[in-house]
Amino acid sequence: MARRKGADNAMNSNRIHLYETHLHTAEASACARWTGAEAARACRAAGYTGIVVTDHFVGGNTGIDRSLPWIAWVNAFEKGYLHAKQEGDRIGLQVFFGWEAGYKGTEFLVYGPDADWLRAHPEIRDATVEEQFRLIRAESGLVVHAHPFREEPYIPAIRLFPDLVDAVEVCNATHSSPKSVSHNQPSYDRLALAYAQRHGLPMTAGSDIHSSLMLDGGMAFHRRLTDLQDLIRAIREREPCFLLDGSTGSSLLSGGPAGIE
Ligand SMILES: [Zn+2]
Ligand SMILES: [Zn+2]
Repeated sequence: MARRKGADNAMNSNRIHLYETHLHTAEASACARWTGAEAARACRAAGYTGIVVTDHFVGGNTGIDRSLPWIAWVNAFEKGYLHAKQEGDRIGLQVFFGWEAGYKGTEFLVYGPDADWLRAHPEIRDATVEEQFRLIRAESGLVVHAHPFREEPYIPAIRLFPDLVDAVEVCNATHSSPKSVSHNQPSYDRLALAYAQRHGLPMTAGSDIHSSLMLDGGMAFHRRLTDLQDLIRAIREREPCFLLDGSTGSSLLSGGPAGIE
């Protein structure tokens, strides 16, 4: 059974480490309004321990010219991450690499393979949804269905892959945060939560953040994660954590033997 807890409880405990799992930068996402370095500074100031940079990939709202040769495309694509990482190293923020794959509006957060892997695997560029899962799974990466129930003109149909995805983003702060200026509809999160529970899938929370407008979503763990592989393992193994949806005073406690307490 889902249990609501005050976000303040999560945030005020000094044992809590907050991670942003869904973040865009202006270097690589056409819709983002801050650079990787600006994102790192703002997240550090807001109390985050770490962030995963998940810019829109070639099939989504990428800011990188799709006509570029593959290597040049990846080199430009990773700039937002590299700038965030450089600044994060300087100010004490963990910065991890990921991306948000897009298939006609159906989107997935991909964690695991790095930019070198991308350069060596041009076949990911035109992979189908199913081929993507095969390629990322071969690298022990994690594929999270981002905001599976969002409805927008850019998403012609809700498509679900319960037998393929590793996890479901059940809290997307753009849906639930009062500060959000797009996609505001908390029911999208409620549907995602019910979907994950129905299929027994691990859950994630992210802000889908494109600027400093809203800095209050993500996953709050009871320890500092060591690296991206540690985050992947924590999600996969359903390590107890708070899932923050950005709404005032609410978070979901995830984890435990049943997946959710
Ligand atoms: Zn975007
Ligand atoms: Zn996104």
